[in-house]
Amino acid sequence: MGTFKAIRIDKAEKGTTVALTQFDEAELMDGDVTVRVEWSTVNYKDGLAVTGTAPVVRRFPMIAGIDFAGTVEQSSHPAWKAGDKVVCNGWGMGETHLGAYAEKARVKGDWLVALPAGLSARDAMAIGTAGYTAMLSVLALEKHGLTPKDGPVVVTGAAGGVGSVATAVLSKLGYHVIASTGRMSEAGYLKDLGASEVIDRNELSGPAKPLAKERWAGGVDSVGSTTLANLLSMTKYRGAIAACGLAAGMDLPSSVAPFILRGVCLLGIDSVMCPIELRKTAWARLATDLDRTKLTEITHEIDLAGVIEAGAKILAGQVRGRIVVKIL
Ligand code: NDP
Repeated sequence: MGTFKAIRIDKAEKGTTVALTQFDEAELMDGDVTVRVEWSTVNYKDGLAVTGTAPVVRRFPMIAGIDFAGTVEQSSHPAWKAGDKVVCNGWGMGETHLGAYAEKARVKGDWLVALPAGLSARDAMAIGTAGYTAMLSVLALEKHGLTPKDGPVVVTGAAGGVGSVATAVLSKLGYHVIASTGRMSEAGYLKDLGASEVIDRNELSGPAKPLAKERWAGGVDSVGSTTLANLLSMTKYRGAIAACGLAAGMDLPSSVAPFILRGVCLLGIDSVMCPIELRKTAWARLATDLDRTKLTEITHEIDLAGVIEAGAKILAGQVRGRIVVKIL
């Protein structure tokens, strides 16, 4: 057995240390499929892990990185054989299971989704957990019964990863998308993605009234806190908001008024332990409902050595769209 390159996190006396280093293959954790990782990405949670800002990592040593795309090298799982192209998101990778910023990963075959036809491994990681979460949010809104005829939809954190993909997908599906951002300088970028309106996130960040003027029929919120509370208070009768993020905080200073007086629904989105069938649906829809040209426009590429700096930038809200990490 040899070694391979990886971003390794270790526990230190105070906090954690992170470094690009060689990792011993013998230290890989149990799993029935070994994958040659070709591409990964940098999500908000990866930023928290590599900077040690939040206790994302719960096992040491850890290889950071919550998602990858690559090629199966070895498998004792009936669904997979050497040469298969696969995608893996979440399932505790980079948290409790050795993760994606590495040339090799060993995981459970039950965690893997076949790379959808029409998507390259790089495309899949340009989408990444952020984009797949955006699609889970869209699917939840559709399951709720939302259609473009019901009225506008709002997307918060719109210039971020989840927000950019949500904006692009919802506009392609025919929705009038109101994109909320703290970076009004990115208004042109958001319009290019398909936003019909761009609003300053300050409009949604103050204390929320129990009920306010109805502005949208649905929404995708990656921000949380008072922003989510405002979204709920401004949602039309029987509308729904998919809550998937906490970029501004984990709290939710809201009231029951939107729920009991307007029948508004709050839809919780979790990508990490999401059942495999829903993952397959989300990836299939991403292959058809996300404009590939737009995906290219929102993506920039780094290598493994750039991950630590990119992690700090994503936490500082300085990343526009998506980052792909070239591993091999
Ligand atoms: P990004 O950093 O790419 O995007 C977050 C965006 O939120 C920023 O670009 C910024 O958008 C906005 N933002 C940042 N800070 C604040 C603030 N203080 N107040 C208001 N808005 C703010 O991260 P991702 O898109 O990768 O992730 C977004 C969120 O979704 C994170 O909280 C992440 O943890 C969560 N997430 C959850 C998942 C799940 O399974 N539920 C899976 C993936 C992500 P702008 O500049 O446009 O204002």
